[in-house]
Amino acid sequence: MEEGKAKSSHVLVLPYPIQGHINPLLQFADRLASKGVKASLVVPLRIHGDILHKVDTSTLATTHLEYISDGCDDGLPLTFDPEAYDITLQRVGSQTLGELIGRLSVDGQQPVCLIYDSILPWALDIAHAHGILGVTFLTQSYAVSSMYSLYHRGALVMQAEPDACFSLPGMPPLGLQDLPKFIAQPEADRFFLELLLGQFKNIDKADYVLLNSFDCLEAGVIEGMAEPWSPKMIGPALPSLYLDSRNTRTTKTGDEQEKLVNCLGWVNERPDGSVVYVSFGSLASLITEQMEEIASALRSSKRPFLWVVKPPRAHEQGRNSLPDGFLDATTEQGLVVPWCPQLDVLAHRAIGCFVTHCGWNSTLEAISQGVPMVAVPQWSDQPTNAKFISDVWKMGIRVEVDDKKMVQRGELERCIREIMDGEKGAEFRENAQRWKGLARAAVAERGTSDNNIEEFVAMVSRCRL
Ligand code: UDP
Repeated sequence: MEEGKAKSSHVLVLPYPIQGHINPLLQFADRLASKGVKASLVVPLRIHGDILHKVDTSTLATTHLEYISDGCDDGLPLTFDPEAYDITLQRVGSQTLGELIGRLSVDGQQPVCLIYDSILPWALDIAHAHGILGVTFLTQSYAVSSMYSLYHRGALVMQAEPDACFSLPGMPPLGLQDLPKFIAQPEADRFFLELLLGQFKNIDKADYVLLNSFDCLEAGVIEGMAEPWSPKMIGPALPSLYLDSRNTRTTKTGDEQEKLVNCLGWVNERPDGSVVYVSFGSLASLITEQMEEIASALRSSKRPFLWVVKPPRAHEQGRNSLPDGFLDATTEQGLVVPWCPQLDVLAHRAIGCFVTHCGWNSTLEAISQGVPMVAVPQWSDQPTNAKFISDVWKMGIRVEVDDKKMVQRGELERCIREIMDGEKGAEFRENAQRWKGLARAAVAERGTSDNNIEEFVAMVSRCRL
């Protein structure tokens, strides 16, 4: 490798091809592009229309797209099996990724570095086989990453008793219900546990470790856990438009404005801080009984609500269905949409609280827009994020669940009222504003995340091949 200018360095960015992973990696690519690096997002061709129309397209103006195959070019099978998909993705993805790097090199666009989603650890071998840097990007919090890492090393020993308490440096005392679901119930989702532990199997060989969080948000955990793979915190990886507005594209195009009209037009007509925004992210699907409880809670809260109800995928039939008559009964009160531009919604003055499944992106988005949360975690890292939202960052309440792990209507309504009208709500709003300021400071010029990105860009820029 030889010394070169930042502008000539080409970096490939490879997310796991689902929305919650594409979003942060694309936004990081955009940050790199804003600092003069040529950044290309690498995705399966199949998802071009499907997922990319749901990301904030302002960033696609700066980031190039390159395509590989995930072995499912004609679409995912109707009976989607994540384990079988992962095997195919690794087999076909690694071959086509290698071919892509080879082709780019022949075309004079040789990348100097591959930034890969940490749940695709095989990508490190492809990078090194082509003589380029391999940089892993963790899309979950430092706290959750540390827990997986400890578990991987055998240093987090599970006690299955329901009242077990886990004491980890820098973290609040954790019960079983606060641990990442796959650690709390290792037998229930063995494949997902292995997928997430896989992030740490070769992390010591990665040339750099990036993580989508920011230093002061997790200061206690960083100090307490001091992981050997010492990540650089570069988040929140969100479009500049919603944070520091430093990047040149700070307004939306006509197309983007049009996409906003449906739900934002409705939100525009509501008073400040009045709307309850409800979304369970891009993956979770809820059983009929849970949908009924949520629908009832929203109705009796008597607040305007915007509820994202994702159409079920082929293998989720019967899920995410609204109770009969609900839409007719609530036409005046609320709006149900299959998808919304979440950051625009959270940034809107009319939003009063966010009933969320606590996915890490949704959590960071609510933090960066200063929106208090009602935490209704479902699986994966969401229980731990919910614990931090309520007990560490103190910007929301976590609902109590019943024996079937469902939140009942009365409980959800109580939490919504507490945030919208209660004493705690005022405290949460104040804390939320403070975290919003700190998130913006982290990515602003000379903020902690900005400094880490600058350092990374300088390293990449020294590596022109
Ligand atoms: N999202 C969105 N509109 C929706 C639902 C989700 O833009 O209607 C985005 C959301 O802003 C976030 C991502 O999809 O960036 C979901 O990621 P998260 O980690 O919160 O949850 P996941 O979908 O991975 O469970």
